[in-house]
Parts: sequence; C-alpha cells; structure tokens
Amino acid sequence: MILLAKDKKVNEQKDERSKLEKELFYEKKSAWDALREEKKMADKLGNDYREFIDNYKSEREIIDYAQKIAKKNGFVDIKDANPSTKKIYAINHSKNILLIELTNSPLEEGMRIIGSHIDSLRLDLKMSPVYEANPFLMINLHYYGGIKKYHWLNTPLAMHGVIFNKKGEKINVTIGEKEDEPVFVISDLLPHLEGAEGREKLAKDIIKGEDMDAIGATIPIEDKKIKERIKATFLKTMNDEYNITEHDFTSAELSLYPAIKSREVGIDYGMIGAPAHDDRICSYLGLEAMLKSESKKAKLLLWTDKEEIGSVGNTSMESMFLENIIEKIITLRKEKTTAKEVLQNSKALSADVTSGFDPKFADKMDPTNMNKPGFGVAVEKYTGAGGKSYGSDANAEYISWIREMLEEAKIPWQHGELGKVDQGGGGTIAYILAKYNMDIVDMGPPVLAMHSPFELVSKIDLYATFKAYKAFYEKK
Ligand code: MN
Ligand code: MN
Repeated sequence: MILLAKDKKVNEQKDERSKLEKELFYEKKSAWDALREEKKMADKLGNDYREFIDNYKSEREIIDYAQKIAKKNGFVDIKDANPSTKKIYAINHSKNILLIELTNSPLEEGMRIIGSHIDSLRLDLKMSPVYEANPFLMINLHYYGGIKKYHWLNTPLAMHGVIFNKKGEKINVTIGEKEDEPVFVISDLLPHLEGAEGREKLAKDIIKGEDMDAIGATIPIEDKKIKERIKATFLKTMNDEYNITEHDFTSAELSLYPAIKSREVGIDYGMIGAPAHDDRICSYLGLEAMLKSESKKAKLLLWTDKEEIGSVGNTSMESMFLENIIEKIITLRKEKTTAKEVLQNSKALSADVTSGFDPKFADKMDPTNMNKPGFGVAVEKYTGAGGKSYGSDANAEYISWIREMLEEAKIPWQHGELGKVDQGGGGTIAYILAKYNMDIVDMGPPVLAMHSPFELVSKIDLYATFKAYKAFYEKK
C-alpha cells in the first residue's frame, strides 16, 4: 500500500510540470521506469547473456558457439545451400560468421544488416613466448587493442587459443577457466618500493608494454643438467598436456584473457560486470534479435574481428568476406543484381557499445549529449575524434527512420557523444559498411570502464538494446 502511495506522489509531481514544458522539452527517462513490467524478461536475457560470456572468449570460440546456434536454428552452411535455401551461414577463417535469412523477394530490395565485432581486449603471446628470468618462467606478451596497461596488472589471466604442431594438426588450448586450473598473472610493484618517483609516474609509464609479461611457472625441473630448469618445467608441462614443443608456439594463436566470471553489480543486481562486454554484448543481442524476429525483409547478421585494432586484415570488416558471400548467394539464386547493389539498398546498424556516464568522471562528458547507464539503448549519430575526424556520420533522414522505429516499439533510447569535444574519440565498423552507400548508424548499450578487465553494463540497457535490434529487423 505504501508503495502505491509513493508511486502516486511521483506521478503527481510529474504532472506538476507545465503544459508547455511537457509539450516542448525533451526529457531523458529512466529505462527502468519505462520497462518495469518487463523486468523479468530483462533478468532472463541478462542471465542467458552471462552464460554466453562466461563460456566464450576468443573469436574462434565465439564462432563455434554461433555455428552451433545457427545449425540448431536451421541455418545451412553456404557450401550446402541450394537456390531455395532461406537460412544460410558462412564462416571466414574461423573468426567471422555471417548469417542470412532470405525471403522470396529479390535481394536487390536490400536487407536489414546488423554488424558487430567479436574481438576483445587481451594480451597475445608473442611468437617466441617463453623466457626464463630466474626464479620465473615468463610468458612474453604483446597487448591487443587500446588498453590502460595498469588495469591488467594483478589480474588473473586465462590462456585461450590454438596451436598448430609440426604436422599441421590443430590443438585447442584453454588453461585457467576452471576453478582448479592455474591462472597467469602480471604482478605489479608493491607500494612500499614505489618511492616519490614511482608515485609521480604518468599512467602510461606505470608499466611499459614490453614489460607486460606474465608469470608462467616457478618450480625448477628435477634434471639439474638443464640450464633453464623453470623453462623446462613449463615446456614439459605443455608437452605432457598438448604434445607440443617450444617451436610450435610460432604457429599458434594464444592469448591471455581476464579469468573473471561475470557478476551482478549493486545491491539491486542492476548491472552486469564482466570482461569484454565490448562487443560480445552487441554480438550476442544481434544474434538473439535475428533468431527471435519476424520479418518480411531479408535479415543479415555479421560478426567481424580486429575492430579493436582498426578493422585491418582478412577477418576484419575491411575484408571482402561480406561482399563475396552476397555475390555467391546472388549466383546461387540466379538473380540479376550485384552484391554492391544489394548492399547499397540495405539498412544497417553498427552494433557497438558506447561510453556510459560515470559521475566520478563527469568532466569528460557533455551533460546534454551523453549516455547514462539505465536510460536505454544509445544511438550515436557519429563517432570519430577532434573535428569528427574518421567518424561515420549517419544522415538525419536515417536517424528519423530509426527514431520512428524506436518510438513505435516503445523502446527507451538515448543519444550522446562518446565524450566531450576534443576529449578523445573512438570508432566502429560503421564507416566501412558506409562505403557501400547503405544507411548506417551506431547503436548499442552504454558501458562503464570499457576496455578494462571488468566492464559494467546496465541490465535494462541490455534488454532495451535487444528490443531495438529486434525492432530494426522487423520494421516494415
Ligand atoms: Mn566495440
Ligand atoms: Mn572497443
């Protein structure tokens, strides 16, 4: 009863706003208020998402997951597709996947595309990744993507990846995810020895990139004739487990990821903390939206790699994979169009997270153009840095279409810039898809502590983002 009275009071207060104010002013509203009746569904989606991120970290693992889900939902490998196959998937170098759901309409009418990236911040093992620095065997690392290096110190790290042995056989590696498995760590200096000089260090100098090496082993092997006995322990253990030698690391892709499981954050369980929401969250939600939406339009979902290093290489958005697959499907269906034509006539979302407002760092943001956790999915018209350099800027016509879509489906949404003008900047895959002349805009949930080993996202923003992606596929 008391709760109701309180609710009433809030409503009364709201009604106190003048008619003119209500008519003319734009008011940002809490998504928790807007979607209160759907909280159970938001919690369920949050739990499903956590299950995904706790189990799939590397691009290859994520692609394996997507392939499994695609097959389960009736998608057919493009190699086995025939002219009447409606649901097709294609995989590129084990690190990209594309899912397409066709209709009877010609492809030339264009598609609804959601593109996101599945690569995340991590520490890659170098090609020669081990050296002994007594009393340790050290794992020699090269960080991947834009990190604050000190974030990664004293953080438990798990090894994920593949090794190809001398015979070219692929060996999957995962060490450190199970409770009883060891982890690796880059240890930091104790505060006692920091000294005045250490305390005054710039953040970028707390640890140098080259010094970001992790402890891999500490017990010397029994055989005293061996010069580097700790290195021998490490190699012997890897050999026992995976049947590999030191030279096999040269044909491997191994990385250290935070060995941290997702947790709920806040006494109300309102947020999810985990490594690499960016951008497993948009990828996961895009796939869920694709599978759960009814559409008269052809739908496409694309998961790319290497976004965090500028979308370069044969598994990135810059590769011809997307165009080649569309071309293949056109040929398969004997349609008279081109991939470029199909892509030009498509509408797309660059599904990517953005920065969330953090009151501790309020001075980094423009209060009237920022995204607040808990206020819904964020639409970012443009990205870039400085005078909008290297940003993709969506046309107002398209933003208008997006706005109508969100409002029709009653989805709480907000808009903002990554930060203050000249504060820094960032980019996504939007500008690369924009080259095809399609309509495209960035859309995703705001995230706190992005690129750290424990990023934070609001559960209601996760849910609003799912609803927005679904509405995008479904809009007529
Ligand atoms: Mn991202
Ligand atoms: Mn990122």
